[in-house]
Amino acid sequence: MFDLIIRNANLPDGRQGFDIGLAGGRIAAIEKSIAATAGEEVDASGRLVSPPFCDPHFHMDATLSLGMPRMNVSGTLLEGIGLWGELRPLLTKEALVERALRYCDLAVSQGLLYIRSHVDTSDPRLVTAEALLEVKEKVAPYIELQLVAFPQDGYYRAPDGVTSLERALDMGVDIVGGIPHFERTMEDGARSVESLCRVAADRGLPVDMHCDETDDPLSRHIETLAAQTVRFGLQGRVAGSHLTSMHSMDNYYVSKLIPLMAEAEINVIPNPLINIMLQGRHDTYPKRRGMTRVRELMAAGLNVSFGHDCVMDPWYSMGSGDMLEVAHMAIHVAQMAGVEDKHKIFDAITVNSAKTMGLEGYGLEVGCKADLIVLQAADVIEALRLKANRLFVIKSGKIISRTAPRISELFLGGRPASIDIGRDYVPSARGR
Ligand SMILES: [Zn+2]
Repeated sequence: MFDLIIRNANLPDGRQGFDIGLAGGRIAAIEKSIAATAGEEVDASGRLVSPPFCDPHFHMDATLSLGMPRMNVSGTLLEGIGLWGELRPLLTKEALVERALRYCDLAVSQGLLYIRSHVDTSDPRLVTAEALLEVKEKVAPYIELQLVAFPQDGYYRAPDGVTSLERALDMGVDIVGGIPHFERTMEDGARSVESLCRVAADRGLPVDMHCDETDDPLSRHIETLAAQTVRFGLQGRVAGSHLTSMHSMDNYYVSKLIPLMAEAEINVIPNPLINIMLQGRHDTYPKRRGMTRVRELMAAGLNVSFGHDCVMDPWYSMGSGDMLEVAHMAIHVAQMAGVEDKHKIFDAITVNSAKTMGLEGYGLEVGCKADLIVLQAADVIEALRLKANRLFVIKSGKIISRTAPRISELFLGGRPASIDIGRDYVPSARGR
C-alpha cells in the first residue's frame, strides 16, 4: 500500500515519534504507528523529518565560477558586477549547463529541491537563458527550478536591457526581474519598476526584483514597488529581494513603509550571507550589518523567506548550497535567537519560501508531495544549531540522496567513546 515508510520521525511542529507513509508521490499517512509495511523503510529513529529546503533567490548562471577570469580583490558588490561583466562575453552554453548541473547535484545532497534562480539577460546573446532553460528541463525530475529574467546591468542602463528581457520571457523564463537601484538615476529606477510591473501584469507573470541592494537610506524603490504592485493588481505575486537599504532608513519613514508593503503583500527575500558580506563596505566603524528588518517585517505579517544568492561566484567565495547555513547566519545578523524566533527562521527556508515561490503541494501534511528530508538532529532548533547532516533526501517517495551520519570515535586513554553530535548533546527540556 505504501511505497516508502519513514519510521519514528520528529516533525517540525514538535510532534515526536510519528510514522510517515508515502504512496503515489504523495504523503498518504502520518500516524503514531503505521501497521502496514512498505517496499522500502527508513528508520528516522527520533530525528527531524522536514519538507525539503527552498531557495527563493539564487544565481545559477554565475555559480561555481569563482576565479574566472580573476578573483574579486575588493570583495565589493560593485567589483563583483564588474567582474561578472568581464566573464560574461566568455560564457558558453555548454559550460553554463555543466556548472549549473554540478550545483544542482550539490543542492540535492543538501536537501534543497526548490530553487528560484535569476538569469542575467544583459548580454543579448542570451546564452544564460538558453542554458538555464535546458537545465530546468534536465533537473525537473528532482529539482523544481524557477527562472527570473534579471537585467543585471540595468533595464534602462544597459544598451539592450529592455528588448533582451522581453526576449528572455518569450523564450520561457517564468518571472520578471529588475534592479532599480542600479539604473542611472532614482527616477530611471522608479520608471523601471513601473514598466516591469506592467510587463508582468500584461503577461500574467510574477515579479521578483533585486530592490534597494544598497546602504543608501534614500534608496526607496521598495515604496514604488509596493505602490505599483497594488496599482497593477499583483498583490502576493511580487517579491522584493535584498531590501538592504531598509536597514539604514529613517525609522519614521519605515513606520509608513512596512504597512504599505503589507498592503501589497510583498514577499521579502533577504540574503543573509551576501548581505552581511557585501553591505556596509563604505563604513569605517561602526559598520552597518546591512540586512533588512527581518523581525519587524515578520511581526507586520509579511512573508519573509531567505535566499542563498551566491555560491563561489564573483560576489561570494564561500557557500555550499546549504540553506541551514543561510538560516544560521540570519539568526545571528537578525539577533533572533529565541525559541520562537528560531522556528520562524526555519519557516523562512521552508514554508515561507514555498509561499514566495508559489509551490503546489509543499508541506508535511497528508496529501502533500512525498518530498521530505531526514536530518541528523532531534528538532528544528538542533538542525539550525548544527547545520545538521541531511541523512536522507526523498523526492516523489524515492530516496535520491543518502549521507552517512556524522559520528566521531574518541580515543582517550583506553576509554572508548563515540559522539553523535545530533543526539548526544540535545537539551533535555525545551519549552516553546
Ligand atoms: Zn541576487
